[in-house]
Amino acid sequence: MSSMPVIVIGGGAAGLLAAGRAGELGARVLLLEKNDRLGRKIMVSGGGRCNVTNSGSIQELIKHYPGNGQFLYSAFSKFSNQDIMLLLERMGVPLKVEKEGRVFPSSDKASDVVKGLTKYLKEGGVEIRLEERVTGIVTEGREVRGVTTEKGRIASRLVIVATGGKSYPATGSTGDGYQWALACGHNVVPVRPALVPLNVKEEWVKEVQGLALRDIYADIKEGEKVLGREQGEILFTHFGVSGPVILSLSRYVKNHSAPQDLTLYINLKPALNEDQLAAELQLELQKNQKKQLKNALDDLLPRRLIPIIIRESQISPEKFVHQVTKKERQALLATLRNLKLTITGPRSLDEAIVTAGGVAVKEINPKTMESKLIKGLYFAGEVLDIDGLTGGYNLQAAFSTGYTAGDHAGRESF
Ligand SMILES: Cc1cc2nc3c(=O)[nH]c(=O)nc-3n(C[C@H](O)[C@H](O)[C@H](O)COP(=O)(O)OP(=O)(O)OC[C@H]3O[C@@H](n4cnc5c(N)ncnc54)[C@H](O)[C@@H]3O)c2cc1C
Repeated sequence: MSSMPVIVIGGGAAGLLAAGRAGELGARVLLLEKNDRLGRKIMVSGGGRCNVTNSGSIQELIKHYPGNGQFLYSAFSKFSNQDIMLLLERMGVPLKVEKEGRVFPSSDKASDVVKGLTKYLKEGGVEIRLEERVTGIVTEGREVRGVTTEKGRIASRLVIVATGGKSYPATGSTGDGYQWALACGHNVVPVRPALVPLNVKEEWVKEVQGLALRDIYADIKEGEKVLGREQGEILFTHFGVSGPVILSLSRYVKNHSAPQDLTLYINLKPALNEDQLAAELQLELQKNQKKQLKNALDDLLPRRLIPIIIRESQISPEKFVHQVTKKERQALLATLRNLKLTITGPRSLDEAIVTAGGVAVKEINPKTMESKLIKGLYFAGEVLDIDGLTGGYNLQAAFSTGYTAGDHAGRESF
């Protein structure tokens, strides 16, 4: 049986930082990754551009984790957004800051981030074994003793689990770490999709699938109560809605098992108040008196959306503009400001950007990421019960917790 002072399981954002940091400290480190390459989820992140982190202050960052932000305080203090930016620049990956403090590689290529982090591992002398799937954690009493892989057993007193969540399983995140945590006596908060597209009841979305609307406002309501509002881009799909606004609002949608009376109201013209929009609509209709209504709103709306807005206002699209009544005009105005969709639930974990739930953080030391139950066992990244909003927050959590685990395990190995 072989042995290694520090073993890191998983070559995603958390595992790369954990292995890199322990290696940087001079520890002998083995990184085990079941895929044939490192950082597959990083490669698809940010639409292939990788929103590495967010440039806000630590206090600001913490506010962006609906799931357990306070737990991250120590990890962010040890390795902050500024630190990952400095590290990447040092590894030859220049960065740029875009709107809302979102940080991207200047090249807009996620692959450059993976290359930079791989360089960090190489500089630290980390041994990388690809296509080696870990099958379990070996413990003795309350101490870790190593791991089993498909190829055999490797002894170690320091094991960092960075296997990620359970979303986008094709990238390798299949939730393996949860089983090991349970076997070690940890509680695992039930996992559920977060930052996820939403299914809706209305069939008309199929007619506009692929259509993206920028700069809209969307309110999500439970009954009459407004739960949240977001501004930005929405995308219609064959099943419902997606895009940054929807991913953010999805946090208000519980699982299928808990039916909610949820509706989405989209204001298609948020830059105009009600009077301004009424005036604009009136102008359009006056200009196009002789046309059918379906051919009269081109300056106000994308072509494909026009028949839908007219139908949702209970008007026949075939009607001529000069026949439109005041009541119908008011109905059009109301639809433009409050296009209604009935939410039937979130899409599955497979389509979620992150996994909410995971290894219970109260059983993890926030200063080291070491298990409070098993000595020498660490958890880092999305496997933990942490989830952030869009804007670079999830990668930052993975980087900071990974670094923290690697820092402690690295020092313990001497
Ligand atoms: C489409 C998409 C876009 C995203 N965009 C952004 C973004 O722009 N900004 C942002 O902050 N966040 C983004 N996220 C979220 C972010 O990518 C994740 O939160 C983050 O990558 C999690 O890192 P991790 O290291 O914890 O897990 P992962 O990246 O999932 O890495 C886990 C690794 O462990 C390996 N592994 C699992 N089980 C085993 C095993 N048994 N043996 C060996 N290896 C194993 C996996 O193959 C994988 O490589 C995005 C997510 C998705 C799906």
